[in-house]
Amino acid sequence: MKKENILIVDDEKNILKSLEGILLDEGYNINKADNGLKALELLETVRPKLVLLDIWLPGKDGIEVLKEIKSKYPLIQVIVISGHGSIETSVKAIKLGAFDFIEKPFSLEKVMITVNQAMKTQTNCRKNNKIQKTNRRTKIDKDIESKINFLKKLDSSSSHEKKLTKTRAIKNNNSIKEREQAWEKEFILEQLKKYRWNPEKVAGELGITKSQFKQKLVYHQIKLSKPGRIKEKNQRTLQRSVVLCGQGLHSGIKTGLILSPLPPHSGIVFEDISTGETVKAHIDNVASTKYATTLEKNYTSIKTIEHIMAVLHMYRISNLLIKIGDEVPIMDGSARDFCELIEDGGIEEQMISLEEIVIDKEYCIKKNGRSIRIMPSKKFEVKYQFNSDGPIKEQKFVYSHRGKESFKNEIAPARTFGFLKEYEKLEELGLASGGRLSNVILLDDEKVINTNLRFPEELARHKILDIIGDFYLLGKPVRGCIVACMTGHAENIALLKDIRNNVMV
Ligand SMILES: [Zn+2]
Repeated sequence: MKKENILIVDDEKNILKSLEGILLDEGYNINKADNGLKALELLETVRPKLVLLDIWLPGKDGIEVLKEIKSKYPLIQVIVISGHGSIETSVKAIKLGAFDFIEKPFSLEKVMITVNQAMKTQTNCRKNNKIQKTNRRTKIDKDIESKINFLKKLDSSSSHEKKLTKTRAIKNNNSIKEREQAWEKEFILEQLKKYRWNPEKVAGELGITKSQFKQKLVYHQIKLSKPGRIKEKNQRTLQRSVVLCGQGLHSGIKTGLILSPLPPHSGIVFEDISTGETVKAHIDNVASTKYATTLEKNYTSIKTIEHIMAVLHMYRISNLLIKIGDEVPIMDGSARDFCELIEDGGIEEQMISLEEIVIDKEYCIKKNGRSIRIMPSKKFEVKYQFNSDGPIKEQKFVYSHRGKESFKNEIAPARTFGFLKEYEKLEELGLASGGRLSNVILLDDEKVINTNLRFPEELARHKILDIIGDFYLLGKPVRGCIVACMTGHAENIALLKDIRNNVMV
């Protein structure tokens, strides 16, 4: 079979060498250039299917090269390699037509996933490749071989790369047997994805019987979804990485997000973009509930996670890496941009069962006129009510979840709000620096003073948004009916802890 050409453009010799190594193992034909001009010359002669392009190049920079490639050969896929944390450049590259981007320092694993996705997109329009079964067999053997090579390489790579979720299991297991098992699980999951979650096909390709394969699934605790099962019951991730830039509400610092796909059973993982430290979005890692929900592990803290978590909860995204610089950007104070971001990335059905937390009895937190309770219910529902003599007066809303569209229309657009009095206090504390008039609904003692409300009960809807986000910190979607009155993050988290102690092991 004719090998497909990939052009790698980078001025760092080590990067050229490691990328070449892993892609040769995968069976690609590799051409290399260490500057932009040479890359454009090679483009004419080798006509690659894919270009891996560094942004920072001597002479003609990567963005210029990308522009030329896309104007001359729009069908060539380009994966941009960008400097650590340079989100804006990555956004620019994606806007110019790059397929995806990889940040330095990158993991070879991430490179492989992205390259394979780009190649798949490239060849989708071409005829279906009818490879003989024997050839496929060889390909599987080759996959195993390259995986082993890859694991060896991972072993010698930097400690930062080892923190990536997929390799974490492998790193923590010391014996050869444990490593093999961790690898086997990853391999089975990848093969399942490749063969569209068809267990018979994968068993056949691996040369084992259906029942032997079933035993492997049970052993690795991989629970496949039943065919025809409604989509919301599958684990999900994104089809490709996406980026979003904005400002932190509390820190006021320019910040951004990079969302990247993760394999089944990974969960929602936040990663501090500057240190590479990860924190799982889980109730055990909640450090503060003052004005926003903050996660913390070791010395890494991630602030204001509730709005994006609400979107992930209602879109049923179960596995995702969220790279971030300290605080989730506030955007317009609502979750609308996060919905669009998820839709931009595309939802990948992982066909592995997603378990829900089904509420079995009533749980309740009551204190100083505030209350929140959750009761068993067939569907997910949240009711919120204000009843004070303050500026909000009576305001209530009932959200009944009927799929992501209902969330997107009824809850996601509701913005954060704050009181003028508190706002002054927040500023004294150095918080709310990003809370300019455009992304917070401000109230004085009597009324809203800076904007027209998007809904008459926008504030109650926003409280529901916060509840939905906090409730995803149990790690699984919740099924139950939540009724809350005058509560905030502190009560949400207290109730979650109560549920966690009773429902979960
Ligand atoms: Zn909020």
